[in-house]
Amino acid sequence: MEKWVYRFGRGQAEGGVSDVAILGGKGANLAEMANLGLPVPPGLTIVADACSWYFQHEKTLPEALMAQVLDGIAAMEAETGRTFGGATSPLLLSIRSGARASMPGMMDTVLNLGLNDETVQALGHDAGDARFAWDSYRRFIQMYADVVMGLDHEVFEEILEDEKARHGHEYDTDLSAVEWQHVVSLYKQVIEEELGDTFPQDPHVQLWQAIAAVFSSWMNQRAMTYRMLHRIPEHWGTAVNVQAMVFGNLGSSSATGVAFTRNPSTGRKELYGEFLVNAQGEDVVAGIRTPQSLTEEGRLASGSEKPSMEKLMPETFREFSEICDRLEAHYRDMQDVEFTVERGRLWMLQTRSGKRTTRAAMKIAVDMVDERLITENEAVSRIEPPSLDQLLHPTIDPRVERVIMGSGLPASPGAASGEIVFTAEEAVEAEAEGRKVILVRIETSPEDIHGMHAAEAILTTRGGMTSHAAVVARGMGIPCVVGAGSMRVDLRNEQLICPGGITLKRGDIITLDGSSGHVLKGNVPMMQPELSGDFGRLMQWADKARRMTVRTNADTPQDARAARSFGAEGIGLCRTEHMFFEGERIHVMREMILAEDEAGRREALAKLLPMQRSDFTELFEIMHGLPVTIRLLDPPLHEFLPKSDEEIAEVAKAMGMDAAFLRRRVDALHEFNPMLGHRGCRLAISYPEIAEMQARAIFEAVVAAARETGEAVELEIMVPLVSLRAELDYVKACIDRVAIEVGGETGMTIGYLAGTMIELPRAALRAHVIAETAEFFSFGTNDLTQTTFGISRDDAASFIPVYQRKGIIEQDPFISLDFDGVGELIRLAAERGRKTRADLKLGICGEHGGDPASITFCEEAGLDYVSCSPFRVPIARLAAAQAAIAQGRQKN
Ligand code: ADP
Ligand code: MG
Ligand code: MG
Repeated sequence: MEKWVYRFGRGQAEGGVSDVAILGGKGANLAEMANLGLPVPPGLTIVADACSWYFQHEKTLPEALMAQVLDGIAAMEAETGRTFGGATSPLLLSIRSGARASMPGMMDTVLNLGLNDETVQALGHDAGDARFAWDSYRRFIQMYADVVMGLDHEVFEEILEDEKARHGHEYDTDLSAVEWQHVVSLYKQVIEEELGDTFPQDPHVQLWQAIAAVFSSWMNQRAMTYRMLHRIPEHWGTAVNVQAMVFGNLGSSSATGVAFTRNPSTGRKELYGEFLVNAQGEDVVAGIRTPQSLTEEGRLASGSEKPSMEKLMPETFREFSEICDRLEAHYRDMQDVEFTVERGRLWMLQTRSGKRTTRAAMKIAVDMVDERLITENEAVSRIEPPSLDQLLHPTIDPRVERVIMGSGLPASPGAASGEIVFTAEEAVEAEAEGRKVILVRIETSPEDIHGMHAAEAILTTRGGMTSHAAVVARGMGIPCVVGAGSMRVDLRNEQLICPGGITLKRGDIITLDGSSGHVLKGNVPMMQPELSGDFGRLMQWADKARRMTVRTNADTPQDARAARSFGAEGIGLCRTEHMFFEGERIHVMREMILAEDEAGRREALAKLLPMQRSDFTELFEIMHGLPVTIRLLDPPLHEFLPKSDEEIAEVAKAMGMDAAFLRRRVDALHEFNPMLGHRGCRLAISYPEIAEMQARAIFEAVVAAARETGEAVELEIMVPLVSLRAELDYVKACIDRVAIEVGGETGMTIGYLAGTMIELPRAALRAHVIAETAEFFSFGTNDLTQTTFGISRDDAASFIPVYQRKGIIEQDPFISLDFDGVGELIRLAAERGRKTRADLKLGICGEHGGDPASITFCEEAGLDYVSCSPFRVPIARLAAAQAAIAQGRQKN
């Protein structure tokens, strides 16, 4: 018989942490905690596969599943001594979703299930607290109506606000039993009015409908958007956890809370979290009452008057903090836990690996190595390479004077400036227009997720460090300030009212400092990040584990310097054409292109020579003996010429030339398909004098730099767009000739490798022949992708997104390497090339060189290095290390 249900209870469970795919994260970890002997209320988990069954069978549940659930509930009844639906000692249940990947707040939970007009009496009687029973009942009705019946919770909140106002109460906890009872009757009434349906009294009806509703929530808009953003497959489905309730709303010795075993923002080793006395479920994160700190240290840091849990419930706190230590040691990672205290008794309700900022992730990984909890390689493998981006982003320059408009809690570090917008929709629109915005909300909810993605940073006036905005922003790695209570959002007039009555309007520029919690006026100067400390240590470990080297694509001294500071070990691609666009040079370049004959071209090239030479000299000096790959001129010549009539007229005038003549030359150079036209080595073959000049500039610069720094340049000259060996032979002969000439003139022997880009399928296929001449290959995967697919990169944007939407391709092949097709050509070329020349150097210099998945591919294909843009160098170093660790192919 199919196993639909896994139980967990006193000191044991049928599943465990390795069953995440079956039980979902929450279920697997509840089972694991039960196995560890931690205090977990008994329950059962309905497997995630049941979710697919449910959708394939017109939203029904299999008979066997229902029987197994009832058996599981019987076991819970035995353990708790209570009866589900019982008129005395009723057992109440929580129905909780829990998918394989954590989807915080994306799906629904129903608490206190099993309450009805009868059991509420029994509950109150058992607890000796009728207020508690009616409070639980009203919560249940509200959640059930929302999750199962589809009635928005706002109608209930309105009723509650009216009642509170009528009795002059400030907090929910001020309401008496009788008042709650009245609220319950109003709730039931509004359900009938709004839905024409009564609130179900039968606990079993409640149970099946709630389970079905959790499954249904897998397909709600919020969850679907979240899955899309996080690439979670739909077929995973969600599991459902049915668990005995424990009560944090049973008076002043009861509480509910959330905690991180280390600070999720800084990574500091400290118990970090919040709790609320006499509260249930999501009260802590809902921002209804201000939560209290768990620790005294936390209380002091937040300047709160309200006692910490450490002070208020010292015994329970000690037990809790020991459990946190145990969980962390057991999982060997920082945990995010949820707990409830029922009349002094602690219950653990959830644990999972805690989301954290990159800075915190870094610190935690490094600290855990020092604590001998994990190895250096494990630490390296724990950091998501793309997340390093966050550390490479600017922070506010500490030297500038801050015009502070207000402040809140520093929920997610980093700083950003932008225009104020008040809605998620506006944020999305602004992003589409390329404007930078700060999303300002009272608080955020999962419906805002799109806008949060679009914003540079998020500011809320309500909520704590574990509020939705805070958690989501940390996950996304964008700066966030929450609970800026001294500021007020006036949505009607689209204003943010600051302390002292100053108002900021929609569109006004502000800067958020997510590290200090400050809201600053205007654009504020930023500073580049510090790359030492934990970052430096972790990167050292990565470098130790890495097999491939990481180079950079750099055309300018500025790029080269930045890349060096990020740890680049050479230049994998220096595109020389960029050197011809600047200032005066473009004129000389045009002279060269427009010259009538070779003599005219040589005259212009002679003027370009010293300019190129000085560029190269500077690059070589910056790279200090590291390898530098220089690519000969690649783009078609007409890219350097004016296009429109006005431009032509202007250039003709500047060059003292007839505009009609210039127009004719421009037209003559026109190509129907420049991508596949007169470019790359084809230029060097038509006009060898261009390649000669470039080779001379390079060699003379090598000599100059070597004299200057005393270090020999490890030079590689790269010929682009080769498809025939004869092409490479021709150009290489020209390069070799110049090397001998310059060597003779300077009295220095110049060492260098001559190689080619592999960017055309024919070159990949004929790699064994090309390698007879080429001393290295560099895979130019932009062109190789373009020519393998026959898709022009510049025109791809009009249909690639359609392909993705329609599921024809998953990823844009220009962003993440197409392993199957383009990858096949790379593997084949590497293999064939190395058969001819065993020491053939292999690298990649396309955009893919900075993409972690593509880097993993390069490791597997046995390339020697990857080359990427300067800001991606640390990402590539880390990704290359992780790939080597995963392959078990580490250096040493
Ligand atoms: P989410 O996935 O959104 O965190 P949960 O299933 O964890 O949803 O439920 C949210 C909250 O509901 C929990 O943090 C806890 O406070 C409360 N809760 C869930 N199950 C129980 C239970 N068995 N007893 C008491 N409270 C519970
Ligand atoms: Mg929740
Ligand atoms: Mg939870």
